[in-house]
Amino acid sequence: MIEFHDVSKTFAGRPAASHLNLHFAEGAFSVLIGTSGSGKSTTLKMINRLVEHDSGQIRFAGEEIRSLPVLELRRRMGYAIQSIGLFPHWTVAQNIATVLQLEKWTKARIADRVDELMALLGLEPSLRDRYPHQLSGGQQQRVGVARALAANPQVLLMDEPFGALDPVTRGALQAEMTRIHRILGRTIVLVTHDIDEALRLGDRLILMDQGEVVQQGSPLELLTHPANDFVREFFGRSELGVRLLSLRTVGEYMRSQSDAVAGEPLRAQMSLRDALSAFVARRCEVLPVADEQGVTCGALHFRDLLTGEVAGEVGA
Ligand code: ADP
Ligand code: MG
Repeated sequence: MIEFHDVSKTFAGRPAASHLNLHFAEGAFSVLIGTSGSGKSTTLKMINRLVEHDSGQIRFAGEEIRSLPVLELRRRMGYAIQSIGLFPHWTVAQNIATVLQLEKWTKARIADRVDELMALLGLEPSLRDRYPHQLSGGQQQRVGVARALAANPQVLLMDEPFGALDPVTRGALQAEMTRIHRILGRTIVLVTHDIDEALRLGDRLILMDQGEVVQQGSPLELLTHPANDFVREFFGRSELGVRLLSLRTVGEYMRSQSDAVAGEPLRAQMSLRDALSAFVARRCEVLPVADEQGVTCGALHFRDLLTGEVAGEVGA
């Protein structure tokens, strides 16, 4: 969907992005990760030409992005950032409809689309006519994402979108993004410096340092086959075990027989990391597991977390 061929960008003689070769596949959730100043935002902004690349080629659906009118390019790409940029004197509904107004949708269609997006982002209909300052940070961020998705863009670009939120709100929005990605199947490129966020959201990670790509691949590849010490250190040796747990689901580790295991069930799609928290909080060694419909479908044994593949990967 989006390809970088030997793309570089310098600011005042200093490289911000060097010789990038990247492929953001259609429908994939890609995450650019790295410390502050590593070139993540520059890379993201080159995709919608908020920053123009100096050399190399960037192709979007096969076409060099410079050959596309910039407004058309941006219409095809939603963009959501941390500082949201909601218009303070516009209501929630008006903010979400920004691009739809520009595209001259009819009033009735806009109203329907706003309702649909608010439902998708878990925003109560009663918030429709509020102004941004009357919303919580998490709600504002949801409006920002709804606005970015309004015109059904082919690509969603997100730059540290949840960076300013408290951990609970942030976790809730991350879960929403995973759900939205599953429902809409959009191509998403997200920038973050937060390792856990990257592991939670991305099906492909691109780790950057000093404007260069150090390693790219699936989260599991980066954790279990780090290309060098930088990658190993970045993901933190001591926390590797917990991080691997965050990539595996309860469903993959449960046993199918669940005869009379008591307690509030874990959900099969939950990560093993969240299951571990449940075991610790509830001081038990086995918990029932329920599927998406809430029907009990198995049981998870604490000791299986210690003997399974995850344990093997950490030992390796
Ligand atoms: P990140 O998003 O990973 O924190 P950036 O892509 O924002 O990193 O920045 C990479 C490097 O480029 C940094 O050294 C930063 O100071 C520099 N840089 C980014 N944008 C500009 C700009 N508009 N003008 C000058 N230097 C910039
Ligand atoms: Mg940045």
